[in-house]
Amino acid sequence: MHAFYATAPGFENAHYSDAPTPQPKDGETLVKLEASSLNHLDLWVARGHPSYSVHYPQVLGSDGSGILEETGQRVALFSGTWCGQCDACSQGLTSSCDATQTLGAQRDGTHADYVALPRQNVVPTTLKPGKAACLSVAAVTAYHMLKRADLKPGQTVLVWGAASAVGSFGIQIAKAMGAEVITTASTDKVARAEKTFGVPVVDYKTQDVAAEVLTRTSERGADVVLELVGPATWPASMKSVRKGGAIVTAGAVSGPDVTVPLRWLYSNQVRFIGSKQGSIDEFRQVLKWTEESVIEPVIDSTYPLADAKKAYEKLEAGKAFGKIVLTR
Ligand SMILES: [Zn+2]
Repeated sequence: MHAFYATAPGFENAHYSDAPTPQPKDGETLVKLEASSLNHLDLWVARGHPSYSVHYPQVLGSDGSGILEETGQRVALFSGTWCGQCDACSQGLTSSCDATQTLGAQRDGTHADYVALPRQNVVPTTLKPGKAACLSVAAVTAYHMLKRADLKPGQTVLVWGAASAVGSFGIQIAKAMGAEVITTASTDKVARAEKTFGVPVVDYKTQDVAAEVLTRTSERGADVVLELVGPATWPASMKSVRKGGAIVTAGAVSGPDVTVPLRWLYSNQVRFIGSKQGSIDEFRQVLKWTEESVIEPVIDSTYPLADAKKAYEKLEAGKAFGKIVLTR
């Protein structure tokens, strides 16, 4: 088969080439992929990030959809495996499972003609392959964050990064859950974000995001802040959250550490919540919402798998608005 895989740490060592077709083990099944999509995670894996003990050669790609070889059904693939028995799994936090493996990180991924994965990771879908291949990482992450923050209808959510994949789903899912959304974008993407999502968009390059959030919430602040960035946005996230509100974080794009003044945290009774991807049930829900057109994956562009490198150059340059899809 053909695949896009890394042979050693460093993105220059990722190639589109021949690779052996995977053989499913016990409890696994084989899927002939029709589409896959890109995530920033893939770049970290290809470069050799300390958080991922990558064994090369590593087929990249966590998101995908295709045809189940056993039945001929179209399926969407859930990117993380789980054991169902450890303490995290017993709490429903399967993405923190002791034994979790992510497609394209700890096991071979979706940028290939075939992938083998546990049967429990495969969900039938009526969606077209490109849309079905966008949801497992970004949409599930956004939905899980909003659930972890216990978002209620009528509450206000600040979603950082409307052009990012998680941001684009966070906005739509928060709206589907009955919330009001304020989002941010860089100057060149504000108009497109307003048109795409129909919510107020703050230009984080030229405007004071926290001041805008306070103005738009009668000086209360947002009930929930979806943090994906880290140190670069953290001070504004703290100024934007309401007393008793929640900052939920699932990303550290601008660096791993932030400062949380304890007096600020307890005086304002703010909840500070960690969140990591999500569960198969949350995946089923975002698939259902997409099938019902309640949410719509924002697809920036589509490339053939053979042009994966070009697609990643666009992702890395920050030029994408939403998801980039690779077709077969
Ligand atoms: Zn587990």
